[in-house]
Amino acid sequence: KVRTRIAPSPTGFLHLGTARTALYSWAYARHHGGEFVLRIEDTDVARSTQDSVDQIIAAMNWLGLNYDEGPIYQMQRLDRYQAVIDQMIAAGRAYRCYATPEELDAMREAQRARGEKTHYDRRWRPEPGKTLATPPEGVKPVIRFANPIDGDVTWDDLVKGPITINNREIDDLIIARAPSDGAPVGAPGVPTYNFAVVVDDWDMRISHVFRGDEHVNNTPWQINIFNALGAPLPAFGHLPIILGDDGLKLSKRRGAVSVMDYAADGYLPEAMLNYLARLGWSHGDEELFSAAQMVSWFDGSHLSKSPAQWDPAKLDWVNGHYVKQIDEARLAELVVAQLAAKGIAATVEQVQPKVGLFKDRCATTAALADWLAMYFAPVSPSADDLATHITEAVRPALRALAERLSALTDWHKTGIQQALKETLAATGLKMPQLAVPVRFAVCGRAQTPSLDAVLEHFDQKKVVDRLQTV
Ligand code: GLU
Repeated sequence: KVRTRIAPSPTGFLHLGTARTALYSWAYARHHGGEFVLRIEDTDVARSTQDSVDQIIAAMNWLGLNYDEGPIYQMQRLDRYQAVIDQMIAAGRAYRCYATPEELDAMREAQRARGEKTHYDRRWRPEPGKTLATPPEGVKPVIRFANPIDGDVTWDDLVKGPITINNREIDDLIIARAPSDGAPVGAPGVPTYNFAVVVDDWDMRISHVFRGDEHVNNTPWQINIFNALGAPLPAFGHLPIILGDDGLKLSKRRGAVSVMDYAADGYLPEAMLNYLARLGWSHGDEELFSAAQMVSWFDGSHLSKSPAQWDPAKLDWVNGHYVKQIDEARLAELVVAQLAAKGIAATVEQVQPKVGLFKDRCATTAALADWLAMYFAPVSPSADDLATHITEAVRPALRALAERLSALTDWHKTGIQQALKETLAATGLKMPQLAVPVRFAVCGRAQTPSLDAVLEHFDQKKVVDRLQTV
């Protein structure tokens, strides 16, 4: 049975790379009618927080990446890891290493002096014919995995294809840290990532592991540990990194990397999902598709080997597509929330009739809220714009238009259009000479969709006031 997982470390928000890995893992499980598990890798106790777990879950929910099991916390499984470590020590697959950091430094120094690549020299590894030193007093040991000394580790990566690493290149990995100071005698230390991940993937019967490229060097160790445990191997797929539009790795310092920042900025979850799906995977020429379509297509093929490039313009294009497409009641709700974030109060009933007029020109719900703000809050054209466009020559025409508009008994765009035409006829102005100042006075900007339609959505009195007081 296909079982996949996402295993974030709760040391921050759900970032874009992890969201993409989660999406692929989820889609792969759904495609095969399998299961998707959320595991929280919180063994870095100093940096892990519950707040981060909550944020990660909120982002997964927002994207619609529903999981069948979890969250499962590694820190609640310490007994299990300890039991496996005890078995491995008993079976000669792991051993206690008492080397102090100072000793290890000296060892590496000597290796460098001899021109060797630094490596752990297996000084505490029990081996036939070797006499181990007596464990020093007061040194708490780490536990190391007795990695095979010869032979190759080989796997057929779902993304990168066949990979082979020689065991000579791999050290005896630390699988449990030394117990912390003050811990009771014999208390277990916290397991390291590479060990806990194997016990978990085994216990959780994970069949396919998708994760970022940065873990590809960990996989040989993990495969060796699976084998030492007699556990079945999952398939591995390492996804290439995502580069920013500047060609560097996406980072917090350069632009938003948190999924929920995009939510706050007016991106829609279906757009985010659609965009992330295409960052490293393709299905023919399809660019716009739903989660359900992705699930039906996502069979693990057509995963890209080369780094993906984050492209804000393309994300805007995808998001703009969904802004146009989604139900206007939902769009209105999102715009109300965006307006509220700007301190502007409006209701869905007020907003919904207006979104249709502007949504085609908006990439995000935030951009749509920027447009609709003029209906609910005073507009403030710049002093320069006012001086340039609201001249003494045009002011009488604005007042005359205000007169005509205030006389309308039926506030509808036909009447508004009529009032505009009569004002042109009476003043001898051309349409742009009148329309641009009207736009600045009422909407606070030079360009809008068709003026009569824009004005129609205002309160009649508000338009008349703005034309009279500008
Ligand atoms: N906690 C690891 C990470 O956040 C998970 C790696 C894995 O999926 O094995 O990168």
